[in-house]
Amino acid sequence: MDVIVVGAGPVGLALAAELALAGVSVRVLERRDSADPAMRAQSINVPTAEALDRRGLLPALERIQRETLGAPGFRFTGHFAGMSLGPGLVDWADPELAAHTAVEGARMIPQPRLEEVLAGHAERLGVVVRRGVEVTSLEDTGQGVVVGTASGSLRAGWLVGCDGGHSTVRRLAGIPFPGTNPEITGYQAVVDIADPGKLTAGWSWSPRGVYRYGPQPGRVATVEFDGGPADRSAPVTLADVQSSLRRVSGTDVTLTAFRAAPTRWTDNTRQASTYRAGRVFLAGDAAHVHPPFGGQGLNLGVGDAVNLGWKLAAVVSGRSPEALLDTYDAERRPVGAWVLDWTRAQIGILRGDPKSGVLRGVLADLLATRDGTTYAVKQIAGVTQRLPLPGSHPWTGRYVPDVPLSNGTRLADHAHGGGFLLLDRTPGAVFGGRAHGRARVIRDDGTGVAGALIRPDGVVVWATDTPDAHGLDEALSRWAS
Ligand SMILES: Cc1cc2nc3c(=O)[nH]c(=O)nc-3n(C[C@H](O)[C@H](O)[C@H](O)COP(=O)(O)OP(=O)(O)OC[C@H]3O[C@@H](n4cnc5c(N)ncnc54)[C@H](O)[C@@H]3O)c2cc1C
Repeated sequence: MDVIVVGAGPVGLALAAELALAGVSVRVLERRDSADPAMRAQSINVPTAEALDRRGLLPALERIQRETLGAPGFRFTGHFAGMSLGPGLVDWADPELAAHTAVEGARMIPQPRLEEVLAGHAERLGVVVRRGVEVTSLEDTGQGVVVGTASGSLRAGWLVGCDGGHSTVRRLAGIPFPGTNPEITGYQAVVDIADPGKLTAGWSWSPRGVYRYGPQPGRVATVEFDGGPADRSAPVTLADVQSSLRRVSGTDVTLTAFRAAPTRWTDNTRQASTYRAGRVFLAGDAAHVHPPFGGQGLNLGVGDAVNLGWKLAAVVSGRSPEALLDTYDAERRPVGAWVLDWTRAQIGILRGDPKSGVLRGVLADLLATRDGTTYAVKQIAGVTQRLPLPGSHPWTGRYVPDVPLSNGTRLADHAHGGGFLLLDRTPGAVFGGRAHGRARVIRDDGTGVAGALIRPDGVVVWATDTPDAHGLDEALSRWAS
């Protein structure tokens, strides 16, 4: 086996699928016997939705969003610290937003449904997920890894820990996890409520904490600044959620049943000091944890998975030197650090004290402006992410925008098989002739950008508006050799 992935959460499944698509033999080890039904992520950012679109999963996700929301014309905006970002205030013509609209129908997907889609995708690619198998030991021999489980040991060339915030792999690999301690306890659940009229829809603040009711019927979330839960692993009871909701709402609301598995969370905010130790990598919550404000964690993890997948596959297959793997940490840790700070900022202004309250007021004024809302919506959507790559073209270092082609297809339609894409709009196929099998050449008669080299994770590493191939050979050699 080339690679062992520990954890079949969304990140482990996405990574395993990317590896299998690139021809790598991969085994996923998951300690749970069945998928986790817990109510967690729902908001999907643009890079995640586009990554799944590039693998042909957009129609399935659009179907789920329709079933979940039933709202055709829905445009996802999100919130900042509970301050809703009104779609009517967003400048949708902003170039960074307008360049990425094809996936608008796949921005609200309940996590269990997304995991179903990813599991089916991985399975179709031949990925084997061994459930009920917990990894308990790990040895990096320098030539490969040996992992221990209750049913024996397994060997592979490489290992990726996608085993969540309490990552065993991270601990066994000795990777430090510095950060800030929890101040809050949060609950999220979908419940039956005997007297829903006692709750106010949307976000409500009080000196005791914050709660949100909706947007789906029965969906509640609470936040209390109580120093964090005494026992994070204790099962969440209906009484826990009801007491929290009563405290923060100041009502005697009565909950009668859970309709979906609830979650308890904190603002424990930490990031691995490195995403790689020898032959062991971390991705997803194993590499970073933070509160769920702004719906970022799953998205960040899927970004890790698609960034690492093709690189590890290229090294495993001997196509690229091992140095390529160093770019994983270099590219993904800064994005993770930004997300941690984005969520810390929200905790800062959610506090119930008077100073935080007035700060919230100032920010609410700013977010009530077109520029303020558009800024926040772009950050949450992930469309401002840019890697510091050589080249001055506006596309370079960014995720490739929607590119409709003159034959009626979209560039993303040509990415289902993975690998590099080379868009060539020059009359004489000037760029395509340089690919030499390292990228799939997409010829097009359209106008606009004349050529672009796109990595399997959607990042543009070279682009030009003219038929000049300057820089293309270097980009091909650096990334797609
Ligand atoms: C209330 C809430 C709301 C959220 N909302 C959003 C949102 O809107 N958008 C968003 O992007 N994110 C959101 N998140 C965050 C998101 O849920 C997580 O970031 C995401 O689940 C991380 O995926 P993962 O695959 O890295 O880890 P996990 O989902 O935790 O999966 C890890 C897997 O590893 C397995 N495992 C652990 N240890 C071992 C072991 N030793 N051996 C074998 N298997 C093991 C576990 O059983 C688990 O299946 C939210 C989180 C919460 C709590």
